[in-house]
Amino acid sequence: MSSLQEEIEERGSQIFHLVDQNPESIFSKAGFYQRMMAFSMRDEHFKVQMFRFVDVLASLRNSRDIVQHLDEYFADMRNGSVPFLQTGLRAARIFPWITAPVLRWNVTGMARQFIAGRNPDDVMKTLRKRRKERIGFTVDLLGEAVVSEQEADEYAARCFELLDGLAERTRGWADPLGKNTELFPVVNVSVKISAFYSQMNPADPEDAIAHLAPKLRPILRRAREVGAFINFDMESYAHKNTTLELFRRLFTEPEFRDWPHAGIVIQAYLRDAEKDLRDLIDWARERGTRFTVRLVKGAYWDYEKIKAAQNGWRVPVYLQKPESDANFEVCTRVLLDNQSIVTAAFGSHNVRSIAYAQACAQQLGIDKSRFEFQLLYGMAGPIKRALVEMGYRVREYSPVGELLPGMSYLVRRLLENTSNEGFLKAKFSDNASAAQLLRDPKELIGRRSPAPQDGGVSQKRPALPHSRNGQSLDTPVGDTYENSPLVNFVHRSGQEKMQTALREMRAKLGQKYPIVIDGRKIWTDNLIHSINPTSPTQVVGAVAEAHVEHAEDAVKAAKKAFEHWCRVSVEHRAELLERVAAIMDRRRFELSALEVYEVGKPWAEADGDIREAIDFLLFYAQQMRLRGLPRLTQHVPGEESYQHYWPRGVALVIAPWNFPMAILTGMVSAALVTGNTVIMKPAEQSAVCGAMLMEMFEEAGVPPGVLNFLPGKGRVIGQHLVDHKDVHMIAFTGSREVGLRIWESAGQTRPGQLELKRVVCEMGGKNAVIVDSDADLDEAIVDSIYSAFGYQGQKCSALSRLIVLEENYDRVVKRLLEAAASLRVGNPETPGIMVGPVIDETAYRRQLEAIEIGKKEATLAFQGTVPAEGFFVPPTIFTGVTAEMRLAREEIFGPVLSVMKVRDLDEAIRVANDTDYALTAGFFSRSPANIERIKAELVAGNVYINRSCTGAVVGRHPFGGFKMSGGGTKAGGGDYLLQFLVPRVVTENIMRHGFAPDTTPEFRAPFGAVSVGN
Ligand SMILES: Cc1cc2nc3c(=O)[nH]c(=O)nc-3n(C[C@H](O)[C@H](O)[C@H](O)COP(=O)(O)OP(=O)(O)OC[C@H]3O[C@@H](n4cnc5c(N)ncnc54)[C@H](O)[C@@H]3O)c2cc1C
Repeated sequence: MSSLQEEIEERGSQIFHLVDQNPESIFSKAGFYQRMMAFSMRDEHFKVQMFRFVDVLASLRNSRDIVQHLDEYFADMRNGSVPFLQTGLRAARIFPWITAPVLRWNVTGMARQFIAGRNPDDVMKTLRKRRKERIGFTVDLLGEAVVSEQEADEYAARCFELLDGLAERTRGWADPLGKNTELFPVVNVSVKISAFYSQMNPADPEDAIAHLAPKLRPILRRAREVGAFINFDMESYAHKNTTLELFRRLFTEPEFRDWPHAGIVIQAYLRDAEKDLRDLIDWARERGTRFTVRLVKGAYWDYEKIKAAQNGWRVPVYLQKPESDANFEVCTRVLLDNQSIVTAAFGSHNVRSIAYAQACAQQLGIDKSRFEFQLLYGMAGPIKRALVEMGYRVREYSPVGELLPGMSYLVRRLLENTSNEGFLKAKFSDNASAAQLLRDPKELIGRRSPAPQDGGVSQKRPALPHSRNGQSLDTPVGDTYENSPLVNFVHRSGQEKMQTALREMRAKLGQKYPIVIDGRKIWTDNLIHSINPTSPTQVVGAVAEAHVEHAEDAVKAAKKAFEHWCRVSVEHRAELLERVAAIMDRRRFELSALEVYEVGKPWAEADGDIREAIDFLLFYAQQMRLRGLPRLTQHVPGEESYQHYWPRGVALVIAPWNFPMAILTGMVSAALVTGNTVIMKPAEQSAVCGAMLMEMFEEAGVPPGVLNFLPGKGRVIGQHLVDHKDVHMIAFTGSREVGLRIWESAGQTRPGQLELKRVVCEMGGKNAVIVDSDADLDEAIVDSIYSAFGYQGQKCSALSRLIVLEENYDRVVKRLLEAAASLRVGNPETPGIMVGPVIDETAYRRQLEAIEIGKKEATLAFQGTVPAEGFFVPPTIFTGVTAEMRLAREEIFGPVLSVMKVRDLDEAIRVANDTDYALTAGFFSRSPANIERIKAELVAGNVYINRSCTGAVVGRHPFGGFKMSGGGTKAGGGDYLLQFLVPRVVTENIMRHGFAPDTTPEFRAPFGAVSVGN
């Protein structure tokens, strides 16, 4: 055994010895909290329900609501494993006025276990007590979720007050160790950077720093004046790089360059941790002044893993607990090796991690008073006392605030205390031995595999063209399709690639693109100019305008090409789509940049559109493979019946401009992979995106005539093609007005027409979101704002009616208006812009008109300001909107939100469903019963609970509506391709003179392909 390990074990044993003299009371068996924790550790379902109940409790206002929620959360456990529940629930229903306050009192008591005080006055009691125990403090103001600049300013003001108050009330307090005191001011305040600016966007660190620095400077100045220390806490990975950069920038400024009393957190669970730490140390050496690093493992482990899995990102955290432990030790060593420039604060409750730091410091000859241990208020009390007794410097992290803003902190602590991976549970609840707890984490890596190696996301994604996602004919598709990742603009490389792409695209603007028919490029006299809506004098590109004769040629070419294409193997067609996906992936930033200019999409929206296009290509390729072989309908002796599909023939694809790559690609790829040939008509406003898609298909080797590019006027060629006898199906996405015309027109059979035309028609919505009286408003406000104003409200899924229960109405409206006022509106070339211009002058005028009508009907509660140039419509919110108003009935397709007040959930559902449309709808609530009800009763194609109502992901959220929202089935879903196919069954009697084969295979080879599209 190495001498370091011996030293660690010796020190660890000493800590345990001291701890065992006075074990952790929060893990004892008495009291509400203790019992709740014990059950939570035993029963995962109880734990989830209990923590959810705790999460909602603070926002419930009356006893009836509390008991109702209790009942709902634990309804399925009444007869189960938790004995006190049944009696408790019965009593609660009979005596709610007794039970509810007792429950609230218990949960508040539990919160008080982790929250050191309600306000700066209140916290002093705790701090004084700790002073007597020779434990220092760092105070943290709860309330990290700010949804508006107003709330951010309030947070900054409270920080000021806190600093002043602490400085005043601790005057004369001395350092507990009395040595190296200049490194450790008594007053220490921890701040959460995201609480100072509501519009932090990972893609735009410069904007965040520009807003944060002026808010932080006065606080730092005051801290310096009063001799306090300021620590920048670290939050989720999305904010990490900005927080580090802000720290470096501020403390390089002349005013703060020589000030040593600033600290920042490094999270050892991050794979980047060591590099970030070394970069900080290099920076500090250049700066020439010491600073502090609080080394922790990290509080957002589950969140980071889930977020990465949802977006297809590399998981930024280690996935095995011992890896985080080992990295904590690596970073400990780096810190202590550099103690001449950095003061170390070790934030851990893990005795092994603590003992490692002690042993390392001992080996390096560093005095105990030159670093400190920091532990959380309400946790690991005996360890704090042991460390004090051993002569170490101990500081307690003491959160201050009310229960409601402190809820996310409380839930993080509850999770930490019940985590199977956590040290505290192992030591104080599972009674693991000292030898087990003090093992070298490096030796444990790879031994246990509690977390899946990839957290549900593969670390190394296969290079495009994608594998077929491992599906086989026996595996359900939904289980195997792995979405293409979004670009993670947290990384500077992503930001730089986008900036470069924008620069290069700007230089290329104004190019001309031909019509493509039968593989031939055709130019015409007329050009359709595509305009940048941000800057309408700028021409993004021009496409040749097709006329009726071109439409005729295109139909002929597609009809001819169909004869061959319909016989081409499914595999061959699927591979074509996969090659296009690979090209799109290669050109990803270029295409996103084009969308910024051509349709005014903000960065992340543009990237989301390209990602969706790639997903459509890969998903439909996979789906078609699953349907490519004739499949036995039933096992019946003596007979075999196989169902299979034929393509329909010539498909006309008419696409909108709002998802210029995704929707176009989705419809085109579905038609092609099913064996149809296509005439593709992009929207005039996004014709260049259409030309790009054509280019990519050509590069991927689409045969002449199979895909024809026909930009032109809807009223001229669109109508002609819809009515054409040789067009067999129409896939349309766009306005209700045009959609209904197509539907009607396609319903007529014309001379020479041999097929009944199939129309896949996706239209608009008047989407509603209901906010329940117990909703988590931090979530509801942020998601509603995004749903209503993201991409200027120009998504068919966008929120346009926010229906709020009256109990919550005033609070929701106040925060909503403040949040809207904080939105970043402007040129979408700038990263982090959320609201850009609307698509064109017609839309601009129509929307301003709708706003004028709205002003006459309802109360204009908010209207933003917008740049003078470009088609910018100010984000607008109307309140007092009622069901009969035009505001509540007509689709506006722009940044206009109507807020409607209702009495109760019955009325809310009635109002939400009272519309011609049924596309998306949403609900924010923490009542399990209400959520269940909404799942059953909201009339919409896509119902979203406790999240935004936009942003459907292919395969995950098959998308599309009914009523006046659409007459097709879900895009990006398993059934979608069937609309492009004709089903066929071939039955053969295989019995000969009473003899038949025993078994018939499930699948058989394709029948020699023949079309029904003549
Ligand atoms: C004073 C103080 C301040 C803090 N400030 C911050 C802060 O600003 N930002 C922040 O993010 N955290 C912060 N933390 C850390 C966080 O709140 C947890 O307390 C800490 O991560 C628990 O680690 P531990 O060493 O005490 O316990 P341990 O039980 O040894 O470690 C638990 C930690 O291991 C990690 N982990 C759990 N499971 C896995 C797994 N499967 N794979 C990999 N790693 C895993 C997680 O980080 C988890 O929190 C702070 C902690 C303290 C004590």
